[in-house]
Amino acid sequence: MKSYRKELWFNTSSRMEFINITRNVQDAVSESGVKEGLVLVNAMHITASVFINDDESGLHADYKKWLEELAPHEPISRYAHNRTGEDNGDAHHKRQIMGREVVVAITEGRLDFGPWEQIFYGEFDGRRRKRVLVKIIGE
Ligand code: ZN
Repeated sequence: MKSYRKELWFNTSSRMEFINITRNVQDAVSESGVKEGLVLVNAMHITASVFINDDESGLHADYKKWLEELAPHEPISRYAHNRTGEDNGDAHHKRQIMGREVVVAITEGRLDFGPWEQIFYGEFDGRRRKRVLVKIIGE
C-alpha cells in the first residue's frame, strides 16, 4: 500500500472565506501515484473546516449569512470562550457545524465525485497562516 501526505497553506484576507481546493487535492492524488484508494482532507485548526458542496456563489453567500445568524461574531462578550482573551468564539461554532474533514474515494487516479461535488476550505478566523492536511492511502 502506498501513502502520501501533503499540507496546503492558506492566509485569507477576510475573517470568513470559502476556497475551492478541489484542484489542489486532485494534484496531490496525481503526485501520490495512487490509482485506487482514499483521500482524507482535514483542517488542522479548530476554527476552520473542510466540506463538500456545490461551487455556487449564491449558496456560499447563503452559508455565510446562515452561519453569522447561528453564531454572530459580535458582540464578542456573548461567548464564554472569549473570556480567555480571544475573539474567535464564533469561529469555533462555525467550524463545528461545517465539519472538520472529508473523505473522497479515488478511482482510476481521479476523485470519484457525484455530479456537483467540490471540496472547500472554510475559514472562520482568517488573516493568518493556516493549513489543511491531505492524506492519501491506496495502491
Ligand atoms: Zn479560540
